[in-house]
Amino acid sequence: MPDVTCARCGNVRAGFERPPFPGPIGQRIVAGTCQVCWGDWLKQQTMLINHYGLNVMDPQARSFLTKNMSAYLFGAGEQAEIDTTKQGTISH
Ligand SMILES: [Zn+2]
Repeated sequence: MPDVTCARCGNVRAGFERPPFPGPIGQRIVAGTCQVCWGDWLKQQTMLINHYGLNVMDPQARSFLTKNMSAYLFGAGEQAEIDTTKQGTISH
């Protein structure tokens, strides 16, 4: 796996050979997200889905999650409230 300087944690860690997500965000993840932070996001995503009772087939729910994902990984835009309240309480 190629090493990347992670935009979220700032560490140089193993990144992705292939984008774990489609589109331009996937490219951004390959360029600057480590596997650890991606794993953290997946847990966060599950939490958001459960918290809001999201249907992941619903385009609105998907765009909500995508927005939260880029906020979570790249610090861009706003995250849903749950992100800040739950931050630091995620164990891995
Ligand atoms: Zn990271």
